[in-house]
Amino acid sequence: MSEQDPIIVIGAGIAGTAAARALQRAGHAVTLLDSAEPGKATSFGNAGYLSFDSLMPLARPSTLKSLPRMLTDRTGPLTVHPPSLPWLLPWMARFAWAALSKAEVQKGMVALKALMIEADVAWKAEIQASGLGELFRTKGALYVYESEAAFQGTDEMRGLQTNKGTAFEVVDGNRARELAPGLSPHIVRGIHYPNGTHTIDPYRVVETLAERFTADGGTIRRGRVRGFGRDGDRVTAVHITDQSLPAKAVVIAAGRASGELTRLLGFNAPLVAERGYHVMLAPDNLRFDLPVSPPERGLFFTPMQDGLRLAGTVELAAPHQPPSWQRADLLIKHLKDIFPGVGGAERSRWIGERPTLPDFRPAIGRAPRLANVYCSYGHQHLGLTLATASARLIVRQMEGEALADALVGVDPGRFG
Ligand SMILES: Cc1cc2nc3c(=O)[nH]c(=O)nc-3n(C[C@H](O)[C@H](O)[C@H](O)COP(=O)(O)OP(=O)(O)OC[C@H]3O[C@@H](n4cnc5c(N)ncnc54)[C@H](O)[C@@H]3O)c2cc1C
Repeated sequence: MSEQDPIIVIGAGIAGTAAARALQRAGHAVTLLDSAEPGKATSFGNAGYLSFDSLMPLARPSTLKSLPRMLTDRTGPLTVHPPSLPWLLPWMARFAWAALSKAEVQKGMVALKALMIEADVAWKAEIQASGLGELFRTKGALYVYESEAAFQGTDEMRGLQTNKGTAFEVVDGNRARELAPGLSPHIVRGIHYPNGTHTIDPYRVVETLAERFTADGGTIRRGRVRGFGRDGDRVTAVHITDQSLPAKAVVIAAGRASGELTRLLGFNAPLVAERGYHVMLAPDNLRFDLPVSPPERGLFFTPMQDGLRLAGTVELAAPHQPPSWQRADLLIKHLKDIFPGVGGAERSRWIGERPTLPDFRPAIGRAPRLANVYCSYGHQHLGLTLATASARLIVRQMEGEALADALVGVDPGRFG
């Protein structure tokens, strides 16, 4: 290893490509390494929403309360892939502990707020710097509620958003239908975020970042990481199948598979796949141009370049399990309930694996006990939203800046 060697970023999803771009701009030689083409894993098919106002950590008591239903109802917003249950139990125990600990929930809230403030600024800068303007739309976003009780359940969320300074407006059903024509008459309430921004093609965002990265002198390599060369607390090389690549530093951004790499380096990342699905439909009768979500059902309807994307719901699963395509069928049923008559023929369907740690907080920053290894994984439902902020934090840490106190909750060393 020498100072001339590149920083190797492992994983070319949104987390890795954003990190590679930020490190490149900071003046480093960077190699982006992936076993597949950039952007073809989880970052390919998300709902495309920059969710800067998601301020409630999912590891909290109310999510825990829904666990019994989740274990029994295969059609709910959260479910478990039954054969994976034994494998998932240790993760679930850690999740329960994090959700019940006031101190952990608090750490999550503080970290999320700090990350979201950074994310808003970081995405604006990246869109500008990488010429991504064509791929993003600021049309607002709309959350819709099917009962007053469900809307009342958002009190705490709205409190946090008010405190952060988020612009939003509570609307009645009629106003919601004006904002999103075609919405079912049974919707009673909505929350409208006028500044909401979404991408019309999440895959193309990663692909464009990768293209700009190579155009500006970065190297993209194909290879599956098998191991690391070490000299004391420093990683000196990344071993791929048939070669050893010298490295000045390493960033682990391998999504759900990151835990397999951290294990090789002597620290833990207990990630599960929170599987989600999408279905693309022809945009028949589509008369809204902003992402709409019924949060109780756990999905988004996002107008995209290639049609209407229905994306979301959660199925906890062990790695490498076959898809449960009935979960994709369920997305279509949700559309029929919320937007009857909207959407045409199915064009494609997809499954993705959100990389999720048991406390539902990402791992960002320097790895424990290692001088030159950095982490950007575990972004669960918020990987698109948080990718550029995570990238900036890594650059700052490499430049010797300590992570802010507010970000103690995302320390990669917290799982030992
Ligand atoms: C249905 C759904 C909807 C979503 N909607 C949103 C949304 O609206 N907004 C939002 O912010 N987030 C959303 N998300 C979450 C977001 O998509 C993820 O958090 C994000 O894509 C994770 O990105 P990543 O770069 O960490 O992982 P990935 O995109 O999975 O990339 C990891 C890369 O690492 C590579 N890799 C793995 N192991 C190795 C190895 N050993 N050697 C080399 N390469 C390796 C893989 O090939 C892959 O390319 C959604 C997710 C789903 C499933």
